[in-house]
Amino acid sequence: MLPFSRVAIIGLGLIGSSVARAVRAAMPTVRLTGSDADPTVRERVRDLDLVDDVTDGAGTAVVDADLVILCVPVGAMAVVAAEIAPELSPGAIISDVGSVKAQVLSDLGAALPGVAIVPAHPVAGTENSGPDAGFATLFRNRWCILTPAEDADPVAVERVRAFWTALGSNVEVMEAKHHDIVLAVTSHLPHLIAYTIVATASDLEDVTSSEVIKYSAGGFRDFTRIAASDPTMWRDVFLTNKDAVLETLQRFSEDLSVLQRAIRWNDGDTLHALFTRSRAVRRAIIDAGQDTAAPDFGREHE
Ligand code: NAP
Repeated sequence: MLPFSRVAIIGLGLIGSSVARAVRAAMPTVRLTGSDADPTVRERVRDLDLVDDVTDGAGTAVVDADLVILCVPVGAMAVVAAEIAPELSPGAIISDVGSVKAQVLSDLGAALPGVAIVPAHPVAGTENSGPDAGFATLFRNRWCILTPAEDADPVAVERVRAFWTALGSNVEVMEAKHHDIVLAVTSHLPHLIAYTIVATASDLEDVTSSEVIKYSAGGFRDFTRIAASDPTMWRDVFLTNKDAVLETLQRFSEDLSVLQRAIRWNDGDTLHALFTRSRAVRRAIIDAGQDTAAPDFGREHE
């Protein structure tokens, strides 16, 4: 039996449109409605026929839905929750896909008292945005982390778990605050570093920007993929996960100083030991099925 029969998706960009495509593929009888603040996105979703009904306002999309998934930037969750509150069906479950969870849990709880809220974060994505960037298999074999409040209805949690399992994800339940610390390390800090490296490279005086681009295969280009991610989404991530990011950044700065010192004092042993540990982490990610084993991320070399 399907966990939900009428699903509404608010925000039809990369993640929202991927959820729509994945639902169509895995649960074709589910009635899908959707809305987006951007009229060009709504038009594009109609052209691509990603949902059964695209509405101009978020409120209209959620009428009758038994699952509503907010797929907007984290900073917009509270506004959207307030907008849909008067239109929700009794018994509807509210979820989201935001990359930060403690703030979202608190925003949704404040705007939707008495409503079953099961926040979720599919740990899957790309550097692209918008409905054309989405695809049905985005969540397959990726983790989806649910962060319900302690007193959340366990039946609602199980239904949201069944939904993400049907989309191909492996589901884990975690406390929202802990999620934010884990993701600060595995996602938010790497994005911050990538944004910094790209900014540093473009500001260097002795190296021209055409040289940076020409010789980017030396490593730089792998950071540019992450640094090409959506500016609105990432602004909101850093502003809503401030404490965990600042704590992780402090640890990173200390570790960077250790490397700086090792280079200055010709301490090859320290460098070699740390680089050896990093290789093991890469191997573990491949062994866990979270990336390809093909060298250079599987890029073709003729
Ligand atoms: P996206 O491609 O930019 O799509 C977000 C869409 O939401 C945009 O079309 C945006 O319209 C719309 N929107 C913004 N405010 C709205 C509002 N108040 N009402 C209705 N629609 C609104 O972004 P995304 O990558 O799908 O990210 C969506 C969410 O998924 C974020 O919370 C993000 O943290 C999370 N997430 C992202 C990734 C990833 O890799 N990208 C992975 C996991 C989770 P405008 O363009 O007009 O603002």
